[in-house]
Amino acid sequence: MILGSTGNLGRQSLDILKSLPEYRVVGLTTNDNVFELQKQIKIFKPDFVVIADQEAGSRFKAGEHRVYIGEEWLSKAIEREKIDCVFNALSGVVGIESTLAAIRARKQILMANKESLVAAGEIIMKEAKRCGVEILPVDSEHSAIFQCLIGEEIEEVDEIILTCSGGYRGGEKNPQIDSLLKKSKWKMGRKITVDSATLMNKGLEVIEAQVLFGLLAKKIEVVIHPEAIVHSMVRFKDGSIKAQLGPTDMRLPILYALAYPERKGVPGKELSFSNLILNFKKPNIKKFPCLIFAYQAAKIGGTMPAVLVAADEIAVEYYLKNKIRLQDVPKIIKKLWMGTGINTGISSIPA
Ligand code: MG
Repeated sequence: MILGSTGNLGRQSLDILKSLPEYRVVGLTTNDNVFELQKQIKIFKPDFVVIADQEAGSRFKAGEHRVYIGEEWLSKAIEREKIDCVFNALSGVVGIESTLAAIRARKQILMANKESLVAAGEIIMKEAKRCGVEILPVDSEHSAIFQCLIGEEIEEVDEIILTCSGGYRGGEKNPQIDSLLKKSKWKMGRKITVDSATLMNKGLEVIEAQVLFGLLAKKIEVVIHPEAIVHSMVRFKDGSIKAQLGPTDMRLPILYALAYPERKGVPGKELSFSNLILNFKKPNIKKFPCLIFAYQAAKIGGTMPAVLVAADEIAVEYYLKNKIRLQDVPKIIKKLWMGTGINTGISSIPA
């Protein structure tokens, strides 16, 4: 079952599944993109579909499959339908309930919904442990770390090094979303593209790594790597470093999680080492305060990462609706965060 099949990652996963006949897609879900969903139904012939948005659901013409309308079915369908594996490609905290439902129903989980892990990481990981469910990361950095950690003990890890494309560096005063989407190395959705531009995406990924691998945020370093070839690294206690490299293609971490513990091939580009130059440098945190906000939220813990995710979702929505400029996103987050009255330790950070 693919949660969020009409979104960017959902579509990329279906692209892979087209060439893997050993897998059958039993369920597809969308928020309101009924047009794309109809196209996917024709190709993949699922047993059921979920349309979260009521109004869009009323416009939907049903066929040979069961149809569930309403957001609650993003988790209820997991309990009701016959499913082996859930790919959570939802964007935002709407994915928390579905993740918990999949864990409690003891399904294999392919996790691309980072906001859920950041906002409700403690609850999700506790439930996963209780139910004996392994959460396989699909985020490219976390898939890389997961691969580096195979055969290793977490106690032997000195540091996780998350690579990062570097945030928005263009010269435009008020870059619009189309321009950000065009400049991005990875093919991604709108929200995550904005988060990448502000480095909030990397901040959320620091917390995501803390949740998934059980390492404190101070042991997670971020380095800028503009080529996006090294997807992340792990430094061990003996000074040795393992890295995972590959083409800049989100279909690869999706495929890895899907086929795990096996490896399968899909048609695509191979990484060529001729003329390959890799650069690394420290991020300019003064320019990208969102990264510090995230470290601070990780340090405080509790519900603080959830507050950060919510503040970011609001600020990004404002930007996408053209109400604020890109450089106002951290300012709004800071304002919303300070407004909670909780001592976040970010009052002195210029945003
Ligand atoms: Mg990522």
